[in-house]
Amino acid sequence: MADDFYSTLGLSKGASDSEVKAAYRKMAMKYHPDRNQGKPETEKKFKEVSNAYEVLKDPKKKQAYDQYGHAAFEQGGMGGSGQQGFGGAGFSDIFEDIFGMGGGGPQETRGDDLRYDISIDLEEAFNGKNIDAPITKMSTCPEKHSYKSCSTCDGYGKVRTQSGFFSMERTCGRCSGTGQEIKGKCSKCANTGRVKDNKKLKIKIPAGIENGNRIRMTGEGEAGELGGRSGDLYVFVNVNSHKLFERDKNNIICDVAIPFTTAALGGSIEVPTIEKKMVSINIPQGMQSGHKLRVKGKGMSILRTDTRGDMIVRVHAETPVNLSNSQRDLLSKFNESLGKENSKMTEGFFDKVKKMFNS
Ligand SMILES: [Zn+2]
Ligand SMILES: [Zn+2]
Repeated sequence: MADDFYSTLGLSKGASDSEVKAAYRKMAMKYHPDRNQGKPETEKKFKEVSNAYEVLKDPKKKQAYDQYGHAAFEQGGMGGSGQQGFGGAGFSDIFEDIFGMGGGGPQETRGDDLRYDISIDLEEAFNGKNIDAPITKMSTCPEKHSYKSCSTCDGYGKVRTQSGFFSMERTCGRCSGTGQEIKGKCSKCANTGRVKDNKKLKIKIPAGIENGNRIRMTGEGEAGELGGRSGDLYVFVNVNSHKLFERDKNNIICDVAIPFTTAALGGSIEVPTIEKKMVSINIPQGMQSGHKLRVKGKGMSILRTDTRGDMIVRVHAETPVNLSNSQRDLLSKFNESLGKENSKMTEGFFDKVKKMFNS
């Protein structure tokens, strides 16, 4: 903003509104980027002209400029007036909105991310698993290319189209915004820089992975166009539900049925573990249905560690069916033998019933 806004437009100080307008039109036509492809110095001039016009076309700003000069438009320069928003930064925003020349320059086109869904069993989540996944994606062309500036956008990455007085800008279709194109003809990729590729992707599922986890494989997504970076591939892991086991964070819950006599008398039983082994656990005397026993270190693998959670055995006493006559007699005698002071197993429940009726 070193130059005087009036002289930028070829005017002298205090020029009228209509003079400003006419001068701007003339200058804008002369320096418009569409008419000056490949001449960056005219683009700079065009910006200066537009900046000057942005101020001088507005009566309030023009007045402030006439009074205070450039100081009026520097950050905080309007001191105390409470008016903000047309300091240096504000200008370029307005300018970009109107002429769409913001954030210029070619862009790298990164390839798309890919998603790969996989279902595994709880055992596989426990052990971890290596998978060779067949995928079809766009990979970087294996041929060596040399590049040159895009012939459509001249390396700018964008092209402008005129719409009335204003110009619109869009990504260049020839180079997808990269500003470059492949020299000569590549028969493998038809000068796109990418080829369709069927490959086996090695996916390593770590032990302890949970349902809903996703694994990011950096750079395994689709290749970018014209040598751009590849996207990432995300493996979404679904862990199927299991017939015997239920996962609870690092623990594995297992429901086990035991004879009601074992529940009453205590004893030892064998239960299966996730690694398909049997472990022996002790049932204490008077074990109640639904109560849990913990088997240390027999639970799930914990991600990125060598340790395991616990197995929680939920015990259920089974009621015998199809009793023989002698068994029925024995149970009847047992029932008669239960004096009031011995009926500990139902006390809790009847206490609650009594309380409910008395309240
Ligand atoms: Zn281009
Ligand atoms: Zn190629």
